[in-house]
Amino acid sequence: MTVTPAIEADLLRRQDPELADILLGERERQATTLQLIAAENFSSPAVLAALGSPLANKYAEGYPGARHHGGCEIADVAERVAVDRARALFGAEHANVQSHSGSSAVLAAYAALLRPGDTVLALGLPYGGHLTHGSPANFSGRWFDFVGYGVEAESGLMDHEQVRTLARTRRPKAIVCGSIAYPRHIDYAFFRDVADEVGAYLVADAAHPIGLVAGGAAPNPVPYADIVCATTHKVLRGPRGGMILCRAELAERVDRAVFPFTQGGAQMHTIAAKAVAFGEAATPAFAVYAHQVVANARVLAARLAAEGLVVTTGGTDTHLITADPAPLGVDGRTARRRLAAAGLVLDCCALPHGDARGLRLGTAAVTTQGMGEAEMARIAKLLAGVLKGVTETARAREEVRELAGGFPPYPR
Ligand SMILES: *Cc1c(COP(=O)(O)O)cnc(C)c1O
Repeated sequence: MTVTPAIEADLLRRQDPELADILLGERERQATTLQLIAAENFSSPAVLAALGSPLANKYAEGYPGARHHGGCEIADVAERVAVDRARALFGAEHANVQSHSGSSAVLAAYAALLRPGDTVLALGLPYGGHLTHGSPANFSGRWFDFVGYGVEAESGLMDHEQVRTLARTRRPKAIVCGSIAYPRHIDYAFFRDVADEVGAYLVADAAHPIGLVAGGAAPNPVPYADIVCATTHKVLRGPRGGMILCRAELAERVDRAVFPFTQGGAQMHTIAAKAVAFGEAATPAFAVYAHQVVANARVLAARLAAEGLVVTTGGTDTHLITADPAPLGVDGRTARRRLAAAGLVLDCCALPHGDARGLRLGTAAVTTQGMGEAEMARIAKLLAGVLKGVTETARAREEVRELAGGFPPYPR
């Protein structure tokens, strides 16, 4: 099956050449540059097929067996399969697969456990907390009283002592652990212990590592957290969307927090695509993939350090690396711009020390393409060459095109 049957069949081209060109252009961009954005991946042709299916047309407010619309028999089966697969994959008593995004999942988790004005402890945004962890620009910061913990300036590791002290003095109703940029495993047992000590709920926002969890390459937060929030589109390699896992006793509160409290009709095509992705993630091949993602990130981190970048925490346990390019004579924003021109697509991020911006990159997408340690070494050399000014941008762009060309994300 082709990835974009409509384009292949010239269907969209005949009806709407303007959009056909845009979609083809994006497919071309993804295939000829390197996607090093830590939150991105290439979902499979099967996942994309489910996304483009007529389930997209179906209204299905409510839950299987209790819908507010007729004609939901098949949608119900799709959602039950997705829920059963998610529960089995992560060992969870309950799964809600309706959250439209990771942020919607976090919103629902808060809605299930908290009241406006409650105190919540979470990793501060300057240290890698997500917008939903108390940003003043987000509902979380406006409706709850967020207290931020940090990482140690020297090591870049989560400051456990500060977490415990803040929990004891501020008595939060919930503690959130999870990050958009933390490269190490999170000690869920530690957070559970602190939450128990102060009588707080523990919310694990595992949007990034949940795919590694599925492949057995990262610790599972499910046994520790009251609620686990996740995305399905990062390392997990499914469709863009969210998911919530919890124990049976919170199931009803979580389900009501998603629908009808924070969302309307479920996106059934996405839920079907989530089911497909969970099916893929349960295979031995996905476990191999998840471990290769980490092996690749370790090599990439070590090579970047050898080139002179300062790698936060000295390495990584996951798919994610953050690094300060300052020793090469460039700040994070300049580095990102120059690398983008060379076809190396990545993000800026906060650094544990000072106000300077660093670089955040990940290996989920390039590993899906089939790249291994040798390619990581090549990418590190290219990246450093561009930042040091020893490789011309045009030359680097050609090399990126050639490297990417050997590992097409969607081979024909
Ligand atoms: C990606 C991410 C989210 C949000 O996911 P969206 O689908 O972009 O809303 C929330 N929390 C964390 C920790 C994330 O990494």
